[in-house]
Amino acid sequence: MLTTADAALGWARKRSLWPMFFGLACCAFEMMAAAGSRWDMARFGMEVMRPSPRQADMIIVSGTLTWKMAPALRRLYDQMAEPKWVLAMGSCAISGGTFAQSYSVVPGVNRIIPVDVYIPGCPPRPEGLYHGLIKLHEKIQQQGYLKGNIGLPRLHQ
Ligand code: SF4
Repeated sequence: MLTTADAALGWARKRSLWPMFFGLACCAFEMMAAAGSRWDMARFGMEVMRPSPRQADMIIVSGTLTWKMAPALRRLYDQMAEPKWVLAMGSCAISGGTFAQSYSVVPGVNRIIPVDVYIPGCPPRPEGLYHGLIKLHEKIQQQGYLKGNIGLPRLHQ
């Protein structure tokens, strides 16, 4: 009974994410394309993009994160509601990409906030972003609702 309820609640949670876009560079254009009518994000129950971190529980970081911008990303993440999830979209977000050796670029957003799903590519196409979203759905479903981390703050890196 509890397992069935957990599965149902996990399904409801994964199908009602409130995303916040954090576009930083060229990858952001593919992210914006993915939000358009051609790919129809509404199928995933997340058609409304939130402009405020306080109304979001998922953030898509797309593009090159600089050290100068890193505190802003951390502040936005801290303001998001728990439980929350992070997608790192593109080589730059994953590891710094082409600019990994640069003095000004963070070599991976996981140095600043915990990442749940990595979406490789330079840039990843919208299909890649949707693949990452499906992987995140699987992760949320496995985490469950009752046994999940609801109400508990995450351990920060
Ligand atoms: S991964 Fe490629 S497309 Fe994406 S921000 Fe970096 S250089 Fe631009």
